[in-house]
Amino acid sequence: MPATTLEQVVALAKRRGFVFPSSEIYGGLQGVFDYGPLGVELKNNIQSDWWRTNVYERDDMEGLDAAILMNRLVWKYSGHEETFNDPLVDCRNCKSRWRADHIKGKCPNCGSTDLTEPRPFNMMFKTQVGPVADSDSFAYLRPETAQGIFANFANVLATTSRKLPFGVAQIGKGFRNEINPRNFLFRVREFDMMEIEYFVMPGTDEQWHEHWLEARLSWWAGIGVPRDQIQVYDVPKADLAHYSKRTYDLMYNYPTLGYQEIEGIANRTDFDLGSHSRDQEKFGLTAKVIPNSDSLARLTYFDQASNRHIVPFVIEPSAGVGRCFLAVMSEAYDEQIVKAPPADKVDAVAQALQAFLKSVGRNEKLAAETRDALLERGEAIAAALPEALPQIETLLGMPGADQIEVGKKLRGQAQPVADEHFRTVLRFVPKIAPVKVAVFPLKRNHEGLVGTAKGIRKALQKTGMRTVYDDTGAIGRLYRRQDEIGTPFCITVDFQSLEDGTVTVRDRDTMAQERVASGELESYLREKIG
Ligand code: ATP
Repeated sequence: MPATTLEQVVALAKRRGFVFPSSEIYGGLQGVFDYGPLGVELKNNIQSDWWRTNVYERDDMEGLDAAILMNRLVWKYSGHEETFNDPLVDCRNCKSRWRADHIKGKCPNCGSTDLTEPRPFNMMFKTQVGPVADSDSFAYLRPETAQGIFANFANVLATTSRKLPFGVAQIGKGFRNEINPRNFLFRVREFDMMEIEYFVMPGTDEQWHEHWLEARLSWWAGIGVPRDQIQVYDVPKADLAHYSKRTYDLMYNYPTLGYQEIEGIANRTDFDLGSHSRDQEKFGLTAKVIPNSDSLARLTYFDQASNRHIVPFVIEPSAGVGRCFLAVMSEAYDEQIVKAPPADKVDAVAQALQAFLKSVGRNEKLAAETRDALLERGEAIAAALPEALPQIETLLGMPGADQIEVGKKLRGQAQPVADEHFRTVLRFVPKIAPVKVAVFPLKRNHEGLVGTAKGIRKALQKTGMRTVYDDTGAIGRLYRRQDEIGTPFCITVDFQSLEDGTVTVRDRDTMAQERVASGELESYLREKIG
């Protein structure tokens, strides 16, 4: 069954080295994560698919990689110094701090409603630039990559001779000093963003906004986040950012979290170019901009048809890589029965689970919220046995579970059944899977099998498909390990391979095996992986 909780996805991401907490050896740093050996592959694949779709496969796009540090004036005229704020409240009882619009008037730490009035908290990080530390020598770490594109608008136009409409794409780090980072990769303080600024003639902006909405939804479907899992939220006027005429937020249905923003697609009008431009007053801007006496450039486009300089409107699709990563993993996640577990074993697990829940209910040392969370999860699992049986491991990993003595017995009953009768599979679309192919020798101490398998690995890796070799277990166990990280194909070299040059190729999703001649592996896999 698919993931019913975010914890299942997070547990797998940690267990298999997709994501680690940053600086874990020193207790971590809140809201910051590192991508591990598999995570970096998945992240790179997502980013390069986005780049391929939005830059290479279109005729109207350029790429850019602007610096993270920029002149402070960029953030003055972009409006960020003034308005990039979240509402901060203090709990007078326990002294914790919260983002007011996330907590509904009650402190999540101690439950008190004695909170201060919300006050604006600017989310931009500051850093020192140069050796002299005074009040003017700082710069901001950019909170979005977009401004690097606006600041380079005239450069790109001059060096590419583009005509409207055209766009500039960029992938890079953004930093936001979030008041309460939470939900794993969902709300963090350092993250990668994939942003497009698409410049259009004023008056055609609404039509291009619709175009980008469809284009983006189709990209999401192509990497495994289907249309029916995304809601398009037409942001009400009162909630729009200062630069926006209209914004569509794409809301993905995350396990546990429900529908949350995964991408914003904004009509930024002529606000940004207008704001950063010299001689702004000459161009009949529609946006209300900050008067600018510092800019050295006119950020305009010469329209031959009307024989005048105009300031283009901008459509901006902006997505966070981390939120995408989490959505892709959530969609791919599946726990599947491979061999029906016998009824008596399932009964034994069900009874151990009931004993565990009873003990949780009676335990007075657990905080009420911890107890309720365990009971709610446990009862949901009990109601969905045997399919939900592998989720018992996540239940036992929840806060408070380690204080329940009979938890050990429950694990002892559940784990062998989960191992023998279930598999966890990440059903990634093959093109974004971290590893495309794994190659195994049937026996690890047989020189011929090992040599052939290693040779196949090397040859396939040369074609650009990420290919790994493994001989550290029995074939069945090796398959399971690859299923869990979403490898679409496993190749086994056996004795027949040494005689006729064929190998077995096993498909992750169907578990079907096929014999394929070694010489045809590349084209066979290429066709399937796409
Ligand atoms: P939210 O309302 O969730 O704080 P936002 O509206 O401020 O998000 P945008 O400014 O539209 O977000 O940023 C564009 C995209 O960047 C978002 O759709 C999201 O995917 C990503 N993003 C924004 N803030 C974060 C964050 N703190 N951690 C991870 N991703 C983020």
